[in-house]
Amino acid sequence: MTGGRGIRVPAGAGQPPAGVPSGVPPAFHLLAKPTGSVCNLDCAYCFFLEKEKLYPGQRSRMSDEVLERYIRELIAAHRSPEVTIAWQGGEPMLMGLEFFRRAVELAHKYARPGMTVQHTIQTNGTKINGDWARFFAENGFLVGLSIDGPRELHDAYRRDKAGRPTFDKVVRGLAALREHHVQWNALTTVHAANADHPAEVYRFLRDECGCEFVQFIPIVERPTVDGVPHGGAVTVRSVGPEQWGAFLIGVFEEWVRRDVGEVYVQLFDVALANWYGEPAGLCVHSATCGSALALEFNGDVYACDHFVEPAYLRGNIRERPLAELIGAPEQLRFGRDKLERLPRYCMECDVRVACHGGCPKDRFTTTPAGEPGLNYLCPGFKAFFHHVDAPMRRMCELLREDRAPAEIVAEYAAAGTSAVDAADASATPPKASSR
Ligand code: SF4
Ligand code: SF4
Repeated sequence: MTGGRGIRVPAGAGQPPAGVPSGVPPAFHLLAKPTGSVCNLDCAYCFFLEKEKLYPGQRSRMSDEVLERYIRELIAAHRSPEVTIAWQGGEPMLMGLEFFRRAVELAHKYARPGMTVQHTIQTNGTKINGDWARFFAENGFLVGLSIDGPRELHDAYRRDKAGRPTFDKVVRGLAALREHHVQWNALTTVHAANADHPAEVYRFLRDECGCEFVQFIPIVERPTVDGVPHGGAVTVRSVGPEQWGAFLIGVFEEWVRRDVGEVYVQLFDVALANWYGEPAGLCVHSATCGSALALEFNGDVYACDHFVEPAYLRGNIRERPLAELIGAPEQLRFGRDKLERLPRYCMECDVRVACHGGCPKDRFTTTPAGEPGLNYLCPGFKAFFHHVDAPMRRMCELLREDRAPAEIVAEYAAAGTSAVDAADASATPPKASSR
């Protein structure tokens, strides 16, 4: 998640930094799942629910011992002054308010002087009420709210255990967040039901939810065996590769005409960063990855939230220091593999510098030459990155001239033509394809 303010710890509190192995990046993300995969909903496409099979018969609740160790070691392993304490699930709010009060207290206890601690929580929103919203606001939490669009599109797959729709509860939760001025982002998954409605989804988030930060996540769901994705087929709920590209293009065309600088769409910002030659800030479209790990309720650490599988278990924080698990050679190799295992087709692709082959979890198709390891979403990536090439170049040009990328909105209006045509008319030669 992005856009948070965080809580700055007054100088004088906390402990000195611990020694950190050389392989550990200065900052990293660890998504903690205090309830494991346990959730109060039963969303049809949710890949976490399957993970219950990893811990048969165990009560999925993070103990106070694991909580304290997690926060202490997370802070100790950071060399950067900003630390993010990120909660996810399952549904983390099932832990109850007291658990999070304790997490905030522990963060204050262990943060080093001058550190900024950002608490984030990803939630389905159905449990948010005034008490929670007040707590989030008071402690500077950044809340990621899962909402898939207007009622019909949201309720297509996001249902509770009894199969009932959840839209009304989520909207009630959102109202509480807004009433208490909590910082929040929308996390909108894109799937078979909403993928053909980009403008409708985007306008709903912007106009009816008042959303200023949006993350779109493609649903690519494969059948599993023992909780592990298997084979090259996807379920009917998954977004199609071309559909993903068309969805992003549809949103982009709306955004670039009025919302640049006003609404933050994560993938557009990531694309701009890649075009500009800055770090993308999103592992999926970065050359390498491996610094976004997952922590299960019992202290088990996995390579990534998308690889909570026995083969990617790095160890347990009750047995080994967190910094050691993060800097372990196999974890560093995992991160490098994202680049080193790209098929030749990707290496020769004209939008590789923006795409970087996408997330390895979705690399289960073959290239036209039959080489394995191509991303299932490749046709969509190609279409989207080609489509935005010219406007991205134009926004980079504006940035280099110390002007706001948002000026592109007026240029499009003045040109009275399509986004691509308008940018084509004023852009410098492509950078993305030559880097
Ligand atoms: S667009 Fe396709 S070929 Fe190009 S880098 Fe991305 S996944 Fe590879
Ligand atoms: S495997 Fe995918 S989600 Fe995980 S860190 Fe790498 S790119 Fe990111």
